[in-house]
Amino acid sequence: MNWAREPLGTPTPHAMGTWDHVFASLARRSRIAYDQRERLSQTLARFREAALAMPDGVVYLTRLNLIEWINLAAERHFDLDASRDLGSAITNLVRQPDFVHYVESGDYREPLLFKPTRSDGLTLSMQIVPFGEDLKMLLSRDISQLEKLETMRRDFVANVSHELKTPLTVVSGFVEMLHDGLEDFSAEDMRRYLRLATEQSVRMQRLIEDLLALSALETGAPMPVDDKVDVQGLLRAVAQEAELLSAGRHRIVIEAGVGAALIGSQKEIHSVLANLATNAVRYTPEGGEIRLIWQSTHEGAELAVQDNGPGIDAHHLPRLTERFYRVDRGRSRETGGTGLGLAIVKHVLTRHQGTLEIQSEAGRGSRFAAHFPARRVVWAEKTTS
Ligand code: ADP
Repeated sequence: MNWAREPLGTPTPHAMGTWDHVFASLARRSRIAYDQRERLSQTLARFREAALAMPDGVVYLTRLNLIEWINLAAERHFDLDASRDLGSAITNLVRQPDFVHYVESGDYREPLLFKPTRSDGLTLSMQIVPFGEDLKMLLSRDISQLEKLETMRRDFVANVSHELKTPLTVVSGFVEMLHDGLEDFSAEDMRRYLRLATEQSVRMQRLIEDLLALSALETGAPMPVDDKVDVQGLLRAVAQEAELLSAGRHRIVIEAGVGAALIGSQKEIHSVLANLATNAVRYTPEGGEIRLIWQSTHEGAELAVQDNGPGIDAHHLPRLTERFYRVDRGRSRETGGTGLGLAIVKHVLTRHQGTLEIQSEAGRGSRFAAHFPARRVVWAEKTTS
């Protein structure tokens, strides 16, 4: 009876009376069983596909740490190849002592932070989970990005502490000196020391203000209500601030080609222009010219500050907006720089869907341009002056 051996695909035999019912019922049952098997194997195949494609690495290991199955992420993480390495002991293929020790230790309560030497810059958090009888699942997760952020955070804290420590040491040094021998100093000496101490206090104050501004921007403080910024007025105000700082050492020129307004935070856009303009004054030698520019561009409009100062070597340009990155540390400090100005500028622009373009060449001056998209610019109405 072919039908009994292979009930699906073979026509159900016809029989008389009760037997006909029996055959029909058996045929239905075998179809149901077949459907269930099909569904089960499809589900299994889907699970396998999902496990294979998971962003986290998965390796099944036997009791002797032989690789039984491995997904794509684990191949990448441990530089393994499923077609070659199945059946091999993982500790023979990944031989770094910390890895081997972890796998062989049998103590898998804590994950292991693992940096494979073969993949530069990769940091994994891996953990072994025993399951079934004597089987182990090794899970690995790429935490390189997190590690990088953590390193940045540590560097930042170290930088801030260093920046604060120097002026604080100066101030406390003076205080101690005066305390120890007040009568040894003339009134003139005292005035000089106090002036220096005040300068250092102002420096610390400025640093803390910039840090607070940056932290407010970075923690994603909500955008203040969009103001209609009178750019012409802003240019005049910032030009005045720059004149004060320059004290007649530079020529400061406003070049406003458009009578448009900007939609954004008045305070934040003021800080962008003021930062760029004060940088131009601080870094441009006496006799230089500084232009504050507001003009239309293809994408919208730009607010730019151009100087004919010393310029900046091309290799520094991509890093200028990093916190505490300075080309000339001494010059920055001397002129009251915190190293945070351009980082603040970049953040503010990002919040306004703008970008910062820096053009500079050593010896020929610099041009820092804040680009704003068209939807932030109001062309129709002229701003009041
Ligand atoms: P700082 O407080 O040190 O000026 P910024 O973030 O404002 O910090 O600027 C970063 C660095 O970029 C400065 O230390 C300086 O080396 C360089 N820089 C900025 N603006 C200019 C400019 N107009 N001309 C030359 N160098 C500049």
